Amino acid sequence: MKALCWAGVDELSLETVPDPRLLNAHDAIVKVRFSAVCGSDLHVLGGYLPTMRPGDVLGHEFMGEVVEVGSAVSRRRVGDRVVVCSFISCGHCWFCQNQLFSLCDNSNPNPAVSESLWGQAPSGCYGYSHALGGFAGSHADYIRVPYADQGMFPIPDEVDDLTALFASDAAPTGWMGADLGGVRPGDVVAVWGAGAVGQLAAQAATLLGAAEVIVIDGLAERLDQAGAQPGAQLIDFRTSDVSAELRERTGGRGPDVCIEAVGMVSGGPSPLYGYDQFKQQRRLGTDRPLAVREAIFNCRKGGSVFVLGVFGGVVDKFPLGAIMNKGLTLRSAQQHGHRYIPMLLQRMARGELQTRHLATHVMPLAKAVNGYDLFKNRKDGCVRAVFEPDR
Ligand SMILES: [Zn+2]
Ligand SMILES: [Zn+2]
Repeated sequence: MKALCWAGVDELSLETVPDPRLLNAHDAIVKVRFSAVCGSDLHVLGGYLPTMRPGDVLGHEFMGEVVEVGSAVSRRRVGDRVVVCSFISCGHCWFCQNQLFSLCDNSNPNPAVSESLWGQAPSGCYGYSHALGGFAGSHADYIRVPYADQGMFPIPDEVDDLTALFASDAAPTGWMGADLGGVRPGDVVAVWGAGAVGQLAAQAATLLGAAEVIVIDGLAERLDQAGAQPGAQLIDFRTSDVSAELRERTGGRGPDVCIEAVGMVSGGPSPLYGYDQFKQQRRLGTDRPLAVREAIFNCRKGGSVFVLGVFGGVVDKFPLGAIMNKGLTLRSAQQHGHRYIPMLLQRMARGELQTRHLATHVMPLAKAVNGYDLFKNRKDGCVRAVFEPDR
């Protein structure tokens, strides 16, 4: 089959690789209909997660059709149209039983890699380095889905393929930020980043009853998309002082919930940007936490900050004093999609949650190298490049 493979830092190649096979009675094989790039794929591509090997297949956000199931798969069958959660969970361990699905203890066969870095290992994730299990990704004709009864969700007839695609990763991630960030009716919520995840965090906050949702970015096309959602206000960091604006719009108090949806390669006008980039390039720090600092500084006293962006290692200039003295709650997670995806698909079916517009560039899988270029370099207003193997 065809697959988009990592070939080295910032190098991709379209390869012919063996078709995936059932390796376990709980596996399924899915024929991929759509697979999207995600901001966190750029971390893998750029070598920020240094456990990729040439030939690894990228991609973790996808939907498709079940073409084969193992003998122990009972809830899904061949022919089902499904969306698959980007994180892999067994459904039975202590973490899965407590709905902490991306912390599953059984789905990552290489825990030692991340235990040395983080103390404990998260779950496995498709196409996301050997630290997160070394599973082949979805930018391919077919993909093997372990724990298929847990990770595959049937798509309601009313929901089209491209809308459902984002229930795999971006929508549950954004929803989790608003939910676990503690958004309550009447809150003012600020979201850093108007990419797919930021937009969906903003939509989630609105649906959870936030009185005001303010989205911060510096890319015109993304701000336009975010601004088209009901209830979203915008701050363009190229032309506005973000802190002054947030104070002005919250009666001087600051937002109740601040959601960071940017991640380790964040950019922006702050003088600390150059400092972070310098340290990252010389491996003195691993991440550029500009948006995290901004979220912490601007959050109201006693408020909560949720880190949705992906980070890899250690940073400095981390405002621990602000967290403690302002009484902030700081939370974070890789997405616990299994607890949200059925509800999100229902909301999509009722037209409450909009995702289709995020697929700004839909193309054959054969053009995926070009798609990554468009997405990575934010060319042509690209919010998400989406690959269609059958086209
Ligand atoms: Zn992702
Ligand atoms: Zn588990």
